[in-house]
Amino acid sequence: MKAFIKKHEYNYIKKRLYDLNNAFRGCVDIDIIEATKSYKHRQILNIFTNLSEEEKELLDISKLSTPLHIDKYLAELNGYVYGMPNLTNAQISRLFKKEKKLKLPSLNAQDSKNVYLGWIDQSIRKLFVAYNMNGKLMGMACRITNCGSKNTHLCVLCNHVGDENEVAFVSPMCKTSNAGEGAYRSIGFDICLDSEKCNERISSIEKLEKFLKEVNNIK
Ligand SMILES: [Zn+2]
Repeated sequence: MKAFIKKHEYNYIKKRLYDLNNAFRGCVDIDIIEATKSYKHRQILNIFTNLSEEEKELLDISKLSTPLHIDKYLAELNGYVYGMPNLTNAQISRLFKKEKKLKLPSLNAQDSKNVYLGWIDQSIRKLFVAYNMNGKLMGMACRITNCGSKNTHLCVLCNHVGDENEVAFVSPMCKTSNAGEGAYRSIGFDICLDSEKCNERISSIEKLEKFLKEVNNIK
C-alpha cells in the first residue's frame, strides 16, 4: 500500500483520535465510547474519496480500545502519510524572483512531511510560504507586523492561539491584474511564525489555498 494520506488529513485524523482519547479517559459508559468511536470513524472516512478496501481497513478505528492503542495506531498510520514534494533552491528562487536577496529555507526545513513550506528572513521581517496547489507551485512573501499588543492571535491556518511572538499579523504583497500605478493591493491575517509547528496542526487547506489565490490574483 502506497502513502495515500496527505499531511493535513493525517492532522485531521490525529485530532479526531485525541477526542476519542478523551472519551477513553473520561468516560466509563461503554455505549458512549462506542458511539463516539463510530462517529469519529465516519468523520475520518468522510474526508477521503475512492478508498481501496485495504486503505479502508487501515482507517478502521473500531479495533482501538485504549489510549495506548491510539499512539501505536498513529505511528503506524504515519507510514502512509505524504507531504508536499521537496523543492529545489532554483524552484524557490523562481517563485520569489521579485525578492532582491532571497534567504532560502534551512536545509532541514524539508526533512519532515509538510503541508506547506514556511520560513522567515528575520533581517527583513518576512515570512515566506511555498505551497504546491494541484501541481502548481505558489508562494507568498508576508511582511510581519508587530503591534506590541498583549492581545492573543489566532492562526488562520491551524487555529492555534498565541501571543504575537507565536502568532503574528502579516500582510503579503498581492499581485494585481492591473500593472499600472496604484494597482497595489494588500491583505492581512494572523499566522504562526513557527511553520514547523503549524504544519503539525493544520488540518484543512481551505484557508491556505484561499489566501494564496487571493495574493496571486487567481480566480
Ligand atoms: Zn498555525
